[in-house]
Amino acid sequence: PFDVLVIGAGPAGAAAAVYAARKGIRTGVVAERFGGQVNDTMGIENLISVKYTEGPKLASALEEHIREYNVDIIYPHRVKHIDKKDMIEVELENGAVLKSKTVIIATGARWRNVNVPGEAEFKNKGVAYCPHCDGPLFKDKRVAVIGGGNSGIEAAIDLAGIASHVTVLEFMPELKADQVLQKRLYELPNVTVLKNVQTKEITGDKKVNGITYIERDTGTEKHIELEGVFVQIGLVPNTEWLGDFVERNRMGEIVVDSHNATNVPGVYAAGDCTNSIHKQIIISMGSGANAALSAFEYLIRNN
Ligand code: FAD
Repeated sequence: PFDVLVIGAGPAGAAAAVYAARKGIRTGVVAERFGGQVNDTMGIENLISVKYTEGPKLASALEEHIREYNVDIIYPHRVKHIDKKDMIEVELENGAVLKSKTVIIATGARWRNVNVPGEAEFKNKGVAYCPHCDGPLFKDKRVAVIGGGNSGIEAAIDLAGIASHVTVLEFMPELKADQVLQKRLYELPNVTVLKNVQTKEITGDKKVNGITYIERDTGTEKHIELEGVFVQIGLVPNTEWLGDFVERNRMGEIVVDSHNATNVPGVYAAGDCTNSIHKQIIISMGSGANAALSAFEYLIRNN
């Protein structure tokens, strides 16, 4: 059996694996895809000390770093079930069962798509999901934010300080964001809020050049010219497979404490699959390291 089994090989899982392996304990990593969401990113400019890198490059650097150590890599495999008996048992989709004394869950998250024509085609060509990451690419340009919840309105406020103009598109007749955010939004001079509208298409040629929407009360179709579209309709944690095994919050995020421990002894979680407030590469790496050190402490005390 493993001392530490890490599930996921994105920034959180990679950091956890390296930290665990450096303690000389038996470490395994099981993952579907090295690098996780990082693969879907073009330019990365906020991984501190690395001025610029690209997603696929960072993904292979993560893999290379794990392979520097004596880590059993079970890849590419998806995990479908977890249970705790005398050991923690992790079942793969092919039916194989891995046993470990501790587990670090680092299965990340995925952005919810609007699923309109142009979204997939222009991803990284004007269609973006992360304002902290891609906001600066739209300096003095016109952008839209799809989604009027807290993340959408926070994104709009953030982007209004960078972009020349921001249009918010909300499907429902009212914004869902907190009043304090709405008040701040409406004070900004370069923001237009469209409510009760349905995004129909993100248009473009080689990159985004506009957005087409329908006013839901009249059925009128309208088009705005702009250079960027931020989709902000939710980040979904990849935690469905856990069922009731560990405590999750209303959003499905795994609830962890300051040790990155879950409510099940010996089971830790890190990165975007947890209730960490902000979801970023450097934050995921930090929490992965924290989880591995906590798992190591647990092993010292419980063996
Ligand atoms: P993930 O990266 O999501 O990795 C999850 C891992 O778990 C993967 O290996 C996956 O294959 C595996 N996995 C999932 N489910 C299973 C399963 N059932 N069985 C086995 N394996 C499984 N952050 C920044 O800091 N800077 C940026 O510039 C930036 N740009 C971004 C651009 C885009 C388009 C996106 C989508 C995100 C961006 N982010 C950026 C956010 C950043 O990518 C995430 O915060 C970070 O990747 C989270 O790391 P993680 O390891 O927690 O999860």
